[in-house]
Amino acid sequence: MSGPVIGIDLGTTNSVVAVAGEQGVEVLVDAEGHRLIPSVVSFHPSGEVVVGRAARDRRLLDAQNTVYSVKRLIGRPFDSEEVRRARSRFAFELVQSPAGGVLVQARNESYTLSEISAFVLREVRRVAEAATGEPCTAAVVTVPANFNELQRSATKAAGRVAGLDVLRILNEPTAAALAYGYGRGSRERVVVFDLGGGTFDVTILELAGEVFEVLATAGDTYLGGDDIDGLVAEQMAEAFLAHHRYDARNDRQAYERLRAAAEWAKCQLTPQEEVQLRIEELAYGPGGVSLDLTFGLTRSALEAMAMPLLSRAFDVCEEAMRVAGIRPTQIDNVILVGGSTRMPLVHRMVEDYFGRTPLAHIDPDVVVAQGAAIQGRALATSRAKSRLGKVALRRVSQPRVSIEEIGVVAPDPRADVGRASRPPSARPPAPPPLSPSATAPPPRPAPPPPPPPPLPPPVATLAKPGGAELGLPPPLPEAPPVEPIRPAPSFAIGSPDELPSFDPPGLGRASGLDAPSGFDAPSAFDPPSYDAPLIYDAPPEPVAPPLLLDVTPLSLGIETVAGFCEHVIKRNSAIPTEQMRLFSTGTDDQREVVVRICQGESRRLDENQLLGELHLSEIAPGPRGSVEIQVTFMLDADGTLAVRGVDGRTGAEQHVRIQLIGLQDDVAGLEEMQARLEAKMAR
Ligand code: AMP
Repeated sequence: MSGPVIGIDLGTTNSVVAVAGEQGVEVLVDAEGHRLIPSVVSFHPSGEVVVGRAARDRRLLDAQNTVYSVKRLIGRPFDSEEVRRARSRFAFELVQSPAGGVLVQARNESYTLSEISAFVLREVRRVAEAATGEPCTAAVVTVPANFNELQRSATKAAGRVAGLDVLRILNEPTAAALAYGYGRGSRERVVVFDLGGGTFDVTILELAGEVFEVLATAGDTYLGGDDIDGLVAEQMAEAFLAHHRYDARNDRQAYERLRAAAEWAKCQLTPQEEVQLRIEELAYGPGGVSLDLTFGLTRSALEAMAMPLLSRAFDVCEEAMRVAGIRPTQIDNVILVGGSTRMPLVHRMVEDYFGRTPLAHIDPDVVVAQGAAIQGRALATSRAKSRLGKVALRRVSQPRVSIEEIGVVAPDPRADVGRASRPPSARPPAPPPLSPSATAPPPRPAPPPPPPPPLPPPVATLAKPGGAELGLPPPLPEAPPVEPIRPAPSFAIGSPDELPSFDPPGLGRASGLDAPSGFDAPSAFDPPSYDAPLIYDAPPEPVAPPLLLDVTPLSLGIETVAGFCEHVIKRNSAIPTEQMRLFSTGTDDQREVVVRICQGESRRLDENQLLGELHLSEIAPGPRGSVEIQVTFMLDADGTLAVRGVDGRTGAEQHVRIQLIGLQDDVAGLEEMQARLEAKMAR
């Protein structure tokens, strides 16, 4: 590994990259000095793929082939609620992959969502390399705290496709707390309130020197600025319908423009009380007559609309408080993260709930990347030191067993001999300071109890066709000469007597406006920059690396009797962690067992997120019940799952394998995906 370990906040709307060095943390900028890299990928007719600002400019020009906001879909099965909602909303096409995942269809080619994220990460890497002048091949990448196993694995896969060695997947709120607290040496309880474009999560942490312990985390994956945009866009569509008897919701291109205008209006209402806009030629009526929309919105009307949505965030806060066993008033500081926390209403609601003003000097756009960079530096340093034979980090990782190496049998619910998770209810309101011993690895599982009684016959195998290679197109034909890549003209703000206008390229011009500047829809605005100093000024060396004690946001379960599951690792358990279960055969000479695994809090399997299947195979023959296999479920510090199996009779390693839904799409053909990405990225 050469070059720095960069910290990447792979955001729903924008991504940010930072690097930590001796001078502190630097947020890297592109050639034009922009810190935010739009997480937008546009498939140009030339065959090239445009990423970032240029792609965002094409969102209105070529909605069907411009992909954005897909982070919330990554790692989700095609038949999930989230994907269903997205399909009805996005102008670009989402189709089901043979492995049950989601593919984006653009210009007759299919791309996995990991590939889409990989395009963004590749652009981020390019910006970082240009800014640092060094190769950047190793990274810490952040994800929302409530990302499940599939989403974490898919994000890692995206990193690999982008040529990045993802050393660590870090939860966004933990990264934010790190950026705020590292080097301060304080003891305090902080809340990270993270409201971005797609998701909301809240995390309560206890900071003690360089120890960052997550007490609880909770989230809502259906709550973010996009949802507020949707409400405003609905109102605009209603107004347009009432005026022109034309339902823009049935016109993908028009609706895309409405949403962009809605987001623009919403962002305007952060500094302003009122906004007016006009969209010309939103659609065409009989005889090709242009239909325009004129729309006005006040901040108070926006707030009335958004209030019920935003209230949901505080139900989530309540839940996190309950798990942590504390009250909102026992929080010392509130850190706001995510673009939507700029809304004045969010500030007021946060202040009301926690009874204190949120920290004002933290830039919600870059704080996560800064924290990732600090962790990246710690990992780089520890690696360098361990190469010299020194112990650098106090934390000792669990032994890691790769998913491919191992797999299972039928569960014995009585057997639960792994390390007990930290029971949330057992947490005292004011935990004592963490001592280094808290970093010791968990004790090895105790010896298994006597052989369990036989269990039901194997669960039916539901395996999808394994290893299908998806989304890899035939070699590209020679691209025909097409329009050059250029930014789309669009939204412009007129003089006081002119309304802002929306100028769809190729569909009409911005009436009455002199110079429509580049597409400046909402997320399109670079928010005001914070003059705050770097949150983390490099503490004097030697610095103790941060010790992150994170938790898993979701319970991990295995199917017991049909339709039901048992939780093996409970949510809010400290990670890394491991739990062992005993499995036994239900019939004589049974050679294979397949068990479904899921994440979620319900006892019913179908109400949770199905992750995939655990396969125990090549089981040594024997009478039913005599075979006993110890399967250890391990969640590593990234929150990703691995399993290890041991034959209880012989102590020999048992063949155990996990097949995750949709992951075949992402891991198949890594090299081909890398080659396709490198060939297509516009320079
Ligand atoms: P993030 O996912 O953290 O990049 O946040 C993106 C979300 O923040 C989008 O929904 C944006 O519309 C929203 N956002 C960005 N700036 C503002 C602003 N000034 N006022 C309100 N929302 C904003």
